[in-house]
Amino acid sequence: MDSRLVGGVGNIYASEALFRAGIRPTRAANRISLARFSRLVDAVRETLTDAIAKGGSTLRDYVDSRGERGYFQLDYAVYGRDGEPCRVCGTPIRAIRLGGRASYFCPICQR
Ligand SMILES: [Zn+2]
Repeated sequence: MDSRLVGGVGNIYASEALFRAGIRPTRAANRISLARFSRLVDAVRETLTDAIAKGGSTLRDYVDSRGERGYFQLDYAVYGRDGEPCRVCGTPIRAIRLGGRASYFCPICQR
């Protein structure tokens, strides 16, 4: 698989999993407690499981074997939603660039 595709998908899942875990993308990995890190691991697993169950792809141009677009993208909590209200608290989602990649987060739900 093209590594750029994998990287792109990873970026989407990272934003979504961090939201589920309530962790800001700017938080340094070595400043996360073991309990929160464990929650993040669970969140990554849940995010991937959901993505597979809902069509298996977050790629915008993804088309499955029946010619239908993957639709996990419709369920994004934060990814690509900067300025739109958080689905949990209504606060506008923010976008920041980290290491050249866009990360999306809710400033209230994620600490
Ligand atoms: Zn929120």
